[in-house]
Amino acid sequence: MTGEPPPDKPASAPGKHIRLTSHPGQGASGAPPLQWGAADPLARGPVVGSTTNRSQRNVIGSHSGSYGVYRALAVAAGNLVKGHRADLTNTAPTDPVGPHPQWADPQKIVSIDPWGASVQTVFADFLERGYDIRPTIAVTKAHIHLPEIRQAIAFQRLKPDGRILLDDASAAVTKIAVEPVWWLPGVAQRFGVSEADLRRALFEETGGMYPELVTRSDLEVFLPPIGGQTLYVFGDLRHLADPTVTLTARVHDECNGSDVFGSDICTCRPYLTHAIEECIQGAQDGGVGLIAYSRKEGRALGEVTKFLVYNARKRQEGGDRADKYFLRTECVAGVQDMRFQELMPDVLHWLGIRRIHRLVSMSNDKYDAITGSGIEVGERIKIPDALVPADAKVEIEAKIAAGYFTDGAVPTEADLAAVKGRGLE
Ligand SMILES: [Zn+2]
Repeated sequence: MTGEPPPDKPASAPGKHIRLTSHPGQGASGAPPLQWGAADPLARGPVVGSTTNRSQRNVIGSHSGSYGVYRALAVAAGNLVKGHRADLTNTAPTDPVGPHPQWADPQKIVSIDPWGASVQTVFADFLERGYDIRPTIAVTKAHIHLPEIRQAIAFQRLKPDGRILLDDASAAVTKIAVEPVWWLPGVAQRFGVSEADLRRALFEETGGMYPELVTRSDLEVFLPPIGGQTLYVFGDLRHLADPTVTLTARVHDECNGSDVFGSDICTCRPYLTHAIEECIQGAQDGGVGLIAYSRKEGRALGEVTKFLVYNARKRQEGGDRADKYFLRTECVAGVQDMRFQELMPDVLHWLGIRRIHRLVSMSNDKYDAITGSGIEVGERIKIPDALVPADAKVEIEAKIAAGYFTDGAVPTEADLAAVKGRGLE
């Protein structure tokens, strides 16, 4: 080895220099301006987050949330041609959503792009002129099969109707995938912090991943590298915006261990499937049902932190107990929760929702966020006691004592100290 770079080393090849976009004015000539909250989509402008043509970009970050890193890996590995443009033929939503008046209120929606599902049509002219505009929302149809729903039919709590619930025990749904698109001034306002402080924290806490956060105050929109949301709608999607149609809804935060694998330390899957049963029943009774599922694993602390907390809970003196439930999380993570329900109602406003008649959730944080954003909530539906796994009593009793909705008695400190979970075996 001579220390000389090989002739094909990328850094020395012409046109392969890294170009930083962190300096104002550089390459901004072709970027469409964004006017967040404008009622007319053309006045609002398309979100251009692709890296195909840097001069057209008008946001910080890139598409697909955390999967953007896999896209980079695919380019690096030579599996994906840099600059590939999506062929959007036949990708338009199966069911139209909006526009709703909430879309034109920059206070109501700050963390998703209300026009993200319909770029194929509303920004057709931009697409024709060569702008690489990607949908950040996709709307499709599916049938979902769940053993709990099959069981509900067997126990005659549900009955197939051939429309909402089919004869093979599957439920017909419209499902919607939503990627985060943050309008930074609005996000900052939602949390009561200055935009400068928000930008600085995002820059520093991602290890300086997005220099434009601090150098490009002219770019107000950020595509954060985080998970998004999936919505499952039972019944006619258009009814969501009609406050006279009974809406049954659950806003659920991801818990892979329980939701998918049936881990019994929490109530996540039983509550989720109970909510789906309520949604199906509600839609069959002439209403509409909605599950809004957010990728905020382990209270948005992530699974590693979550599993560390499980160990800390079960190994502490006296074993796993409800009176120390929140303390153990705080010891490991520094906080009890990072889900920030403040942004969660955006997707409800995107759907045009003004009233949730039956909220299948006991969370006071979710309830406060929804009602605080101007959506009325009627009845609150708690998880039936019979669906709480034995080892999840610690969690549910601690949450009820901390303010979760219950129609029963709130446990005292002595009660909490007596609620014990299983050990590590
Ligand atoms: Zn869980």
